[in-house]
Amino acid sequence: MNSYAKRLTLIALLVLLVPMLILAVIGAFRTAGKDFSIKEKTIIEHSDSVMYVTVINNPADSVILRTPSRELSVKALKSETFRTLAEKMRRTVTDPSQDGVGIAAPQVGVNKRVIWVMRLDKEGEPLELYANPVILSRSEAVVDGEEGCLSIPGLRGSVSRSVSIEISYTSLETFQTVTETVEGYTARIFQHECDHLDGILFIDRIKSRSEASQELP
Ligand code: ZN
Repeated sequence: MNSYAKRLTLIALLVLLVPMLILAVIGAFRTAGKDFSIKEKTIIEHSDSVMYVTVINNPADSVILRTPSRELSVKALKSETFRTLAEKMRRTVTDPSQDGVGIAAPQVGVNKRVIWVMRLDKEGEPLELYANPVILSRSEAVVDGEEGCLSIPGLRGSVSRSVSIEISYTSLETFQTVTETVEGYTARIFQHECDHLDGILFIDRIKSRSEASQELP
């Protein structure tokens, strides 16, 4: 091969490689933070099947509870780590010591958009898992109702919430985005759990405290 041919080959290689490299870098940026971090994987894999629940009065836990959570990539949703997290969160919320109607991943130390919601509006009131939930719209009509939170033990209070909401989430069967309208107390649970994913706690929205047994942080 003469030097001219060599140069042509080099240019051809560069023309092919440079765009591939740029695309790879863009791809890495787009999925950055949408997969489980090493710290999160450690928490998920090494915790007991009933996980430690972060509480607002613990300074380190409070940082996690106040940090907005990232959505998960489809790759992350298909991972064994996600299945383990989901199962351990389910065991945690249904544990007799907690007995909640919902739980969000920041409550077990993972800042990712994953929640379990008890579907009081469905027969048998099943607990259902939602990935990347987003509240698209809220009814203007609101209703007051009492709430508590696993992360704020010993405190309940009245919170005003929309009667009906439209949500979207990533289906765990098709991995497509689906939307749904939810009403009643189940809509309240979705609003409470989605707030957790944005670092918001029900005490931020509280109107009256029925049992002010602890100092608010
Ligand atoms: Zn809560």
